[in-house]
Amino acid sequence: MHDRRGKKSDLPASEPALRVIMRRLREIMAEPGEGQQRLDRIVKQIAGVMVAEVCSIYLIRRDGSLELYASEGLKKEAVHATRLNRNEGLVGRCAEQAQPINEPDAQAHPSFSYRPETGEEAYHSMLAVPVMRSGQVIGVLDVQNHTRREYAEEDVEVLQATAMVVAELLSSGVVAGSQAEIELSRTYSAVINGQALSDGIALGHAVLHEPRIVVTTLLSEDPAAEMTRLDGALHRLRASIDEMLAHERLSFAGEHRDVLEAYRMFAHDRGWHHRLRGAVQDGLTAEAAVERVQNSTRARMLRQIDPFWSERVRDLDDLSDRLLRILAGRANQHGHRENLPDDTILIARTVGPAELLDYDRTKLRGLIVEDGSAQSHVAIVAKALGIAAVGQAHRIVEHVADGDAVIVDAETGEIHLRPTSDVIAAFQDKVRFRAKRQERFQGLRGLPGVTSEGHRVALLLNAGMLVDLPHLEESGAEGIGLFRTELQFMLSDRLPRLARQTEAYRAVLEQAKGYPVVFRTLDIGGDKMLPYLNRLPEENPALGWRALRMSLDRPALFRTQVRALFRSHAGRALSLMVPMLTVASEMDEVRALIDKEIEHSERHGHPIPTSISLGAMLEVPSLLFDLDNVLKKTDFLSIGSNDLMQFLFAADRTSAQVSRRYSPLDKAPLRALRSVFDAGARHRVPITVCGEMAGRPLEAMALVALGCRSLSMAASNIGPVKAMVRSLPADKLKQCLNAWIDEPDCDIAEKLKAFAQEHEVEL
Ligand code: PEP
Ligand code: MG
Repeated sequence: MHDRRGKKSDLPASEPALRVIMRRLREIMAEPGEGQQRLDRIVKQIAGVMVAEVCSIYLIRRDGSLELYASEGLKKEAVHATRLNRNEGLVGRCAEQAQPINEPDAQAHPSFSYRPETGEEAYHSMLAVPVMRSGQVIGVLDVQNHTRREYAEEDVEVLQATAMVVAELLSSGVVAGSQAEIELSRTYSAVINGQALSDGIALGHAVLHEPRIVVTTLLSEDPAAEMTRLDGALHRLRASIDEMLAHERLSFAGEHRDVLEAYRMFAHDRGWHHRLRGAVQDGLTAEAAVERVQNSTRARMLRQIDPFWSERVRDLDDLSDRLLRILAGRANQHGHRENLPDDTILIARTVGPAELLDYDRTKLRGLIVEDGSAQSHVAIVAKALGIAAVGQAHRIVEHVADGDAVIVDAETGEIHLRPTSDVIAAFQDKVRFRAKRQERFQGLRGLPGVTSEGHRVALLLNAGMLVDLPHLEESGAEGIGLFRTELQFMLSDRLPRLARQTEAYRAVLEQAKGYPVVFRTLDIGGDKMLPYLNRLPEENPALGWRALRMSLDRPALFRTQVRALFRSHAGRALSLMVPMLTVASEMDEVRALIDKEIEHSERHGHPIPTSISLGAMLEVPSLLFDLDNVLKKTDFLSIGSNDLMQFLFAADRTSAQVSRRYSPLDKAPLRALRSVFDAGARHRVPITVCGEMAGRPLEAMALVALGCRSLSMAASNIGPVKAMVRSLPADKLKQCLNAWIDEPDCDIAEKLKAFAQEHEVEL
């Protein structure tokens, strides 16, 4: 039999290539032989079945280079002598990109690297595929032919599936001698730069939020039984996705509806199902079939020009991983996982605030996500939990395995994977240095926030859970400026009843030991969802039915919360604020509901607070144009700069890509904020800033200069902001800032930094 490349094939006419390779590899494994002999036989068999003159295996060494480990066709003296740098030549490129390379004229390719010792110059076409284990490239398998031609899609699939089996053989140790190298190849260090979401530095070990299943058994003994397993798992996968879509439990997966729709599209795709079944018929286990089809579909999708397909690649990866977890009986396992290491660094493509709270927080040290921005709620929860968090970590999930050592630097956004001992030592030093700095801030703990010219600035804490309360005294904060009550609701699997809510608020007050606490009513919606609360799907949830809008439409929900706050505040003063006020008249509706509740309590003989101070959060820009009216209706105002900036700039706070473009130190937001502080002074209504900008010294510096006298922030920011305030000549800065704001093109952030340097303001 001759194939189209003119070379005689040793493939039986009726049998698919992959099945033949699987059978022959199995035979090689059953025969006696040393590691190298086995590798030599493997490449010979693959070359034969693939009708190639050359078949070679390269493995990644400890130093990152690729060593030619076995070859059929290349000169024997090149084996173990030829080494390529990672990214050198087409083989290096294949390893670096973890993608197949299919080149009809390899020598003409700009990446071709000529190695005379191999005798490679005789071969023109090359097909190289990565050899991968647990998502990591451990080597490259390639075939080469004399003739110039592009290998068919089917050839790519066969070679990819073969590479999977080769990876399995290599790492199982049956090919002696190669094991050590492979284990070592997984120890490479890498640095990924993301964006800091919280503060702090954590050294620990990786835990993948969506654990990757390592497929260990590739070849099946009983294809019929594997087929039944595959069909059953596919059925469950489809049902679970349909259910997710039906119930709109978006928050739990941190998923967007589009992503779920894409999952559904793949999950119901007949072609996908057909390819999976085909792979099982070829003799693979159900798991290996999923991996094989994932690899080949991935490669095909990445070749598409339409960006829609390349974006969908990750959805396909997720879906395949879900299917693998179902097959392994480990679906829905995240969160309550047992045996979390004591220094867990959680790594996820995306994770919602509720999911993060599912983990045992005594074991969480750090969080790394591929999405996320500093204003997102998951970042806020990470801050509240005191864990170092970094977002925008490009494709980190692919580069990490469970248990890898990881360092998260949430000061710089740097992530070190599998760090070397000197990097670990350097970071331990950095941690010690930070501890010293914290000690210095501790020294300021008993001192008030007063500017160098004598203006008092209250420094308050943002909190949302009982675990935050000890931070009050530790940080030296003067009270809680924002207590996010929704976190209790998000932690619960059903709506907390009156008694549970009352108990929770009482516990907060007890632990606050007399410090004032401002409670914010339920702020649900946007990226904070309650799975048990039915709601209609929305195109723009951040602009949708959320926060106060929901409370006013569901007065029973709101009044239950107010009732719980009343009961917990018996004999005390209550400070209550509502999130996302949009028009001043909504404040009248809030007052009417509160009045009803007062009346109800009095009628039933329940105690009410000694006084009620009612405030609103300024988060929606419409209020900026009705300030006088709003301030007449509120006892205090709290600026939620996270949402205010999101709406002012029309830039999603959860998207780093857009939110990074705009700064709260731009002229427009500073002008807006100035008008609020001025109006507050006119009406003698106290104003606090409780968004993330209040906790960033440079931004807080501008706020104080604009007239802000109360800042509420995460505990770790209190020290640095207090140090800034105490060294700030605010009146002097006010004059400068007013001038900068009115200049046409002024880089205010740079001006502020220069001012700080000149006047020795501690930043
Ligand atoms: C804000 O929007 O700035 C704010 C403090 O509220 P949250 O971050 O909870 O939306
Ligand atoms: Mg908000």
